[in-house]
Amino acid sequence: MRLRPEFEAFSGLILDLDGVIWVGKRPIQKAIETVRKLKELELKIMFVTNNSMRSRKDYERRLRSLGLDVDIGEIMNSGYATALLLREKYGKGSAYVVGELGLVEELEGQGLRVLTREECWKGGADFVIVGMDREFNYWKIATAMRAIRRGALFVATNGDKTFPSEMGLLPGAGSMIAAISAASGKEPDIVVGKPSSHIFDIALKKLGLRRDKVLVIGDRIDTDVEGARRAGMKSLLVLTGVTREEELRSSAIKPDFVLSSISEMFTRDP
Ligand SMILES: [Mg+2]
Repeated sequence: MRLRPEFEAFSGLILDLDGVIWVGKRPIQKAIETVRKLKELELKIMFVTNNSMRSRKDYERRLRSLGLDVDIGEIMNSGYATALLLREKYGKGSAYVVGELGLVEELEGQGLRVLTREECWKGGADFVIVGMDREFNYWKIATAMRAIRRGALFVATNGDKTFPSEMGLLPGAGSMIAAISAASGKEPDIVVGKPSSHIFDIALKKLGLRRDKVLVIGDRIDTDVEGARRAGMKSLLVLTGVTREEELRSSAIKPDFVLSSISEMFTRDP
């Protein structure tokens, strides 16, 4: 087995997880084995996901349980990217968070002070940070709205309105953001996740490579391929996730490469 020649020029890979390595709870055939081979070729890897519900530690654990020797420094989720971006741009600050424990963990890990609803209601916040939240409710919208109207920076981990699951399509962070936008009369000041170039720029910095040396691999045209284009990187679309061939054919945005699965990056020697 050898790497297809079109991929030989790359020194690093930005890899999506859902739809590339697994679909929900089900691992994609040969995906882990392929990443292992790519690492043996000394390609630098960064897993980049828009999902902010779980922390990087959770992803490290899951990848390891599937048999991949991965370091936490090779994982970037939108929660961690948000935390890094805010720390770098604004230093420390207080945040009201609409999101789950994985997001809170990443924000606190970078020194942000996460407020309770009561604290935020009384004193406002520097940031309102919104990610996917399965416990979303009226009072979270109300607290976020008040803080934003009082001047808090409105930060979205990612804008995905829906995402596919074993149960079918479910609401994503973008649906929560839409509700808070409606109440506060304001769109987010910053969206960190794909297709925004923020998350790719942060990942690139961590990889320490030039952008023309990095290939973005993902299963979605609107986030992975479009995000790579905005960040000035080449993209490989794999068809193991949400995108079907018909959709690709009718799309105005085209990836640089298309394969049925990540495992197709390798070919049998003739
Ligand atoms: Mg995906």
